[in-house]
Amino acid sequence: MYKCFSCRRELKPDQIKKRVRCIYCGSRIVFKSRTNVTKVIAE
Ligand SMILES: [Zn+2]
Repeated sequence: MYKCFSCRRELKPDQIKKRVRCIYCGSRIVFKSRTNVTKVIAE
């Protein structure tokens, strides 16, 4: 599963197979939601 960096919606791999573009907002920046999880720890 992928996520759009701009609108944060989930994208299926086959939806961005040929054109890496968010089908919702048209953003070209997507990332894998599994591997690219960023944690922010505030202490
Ligand atoms: Zn989007």
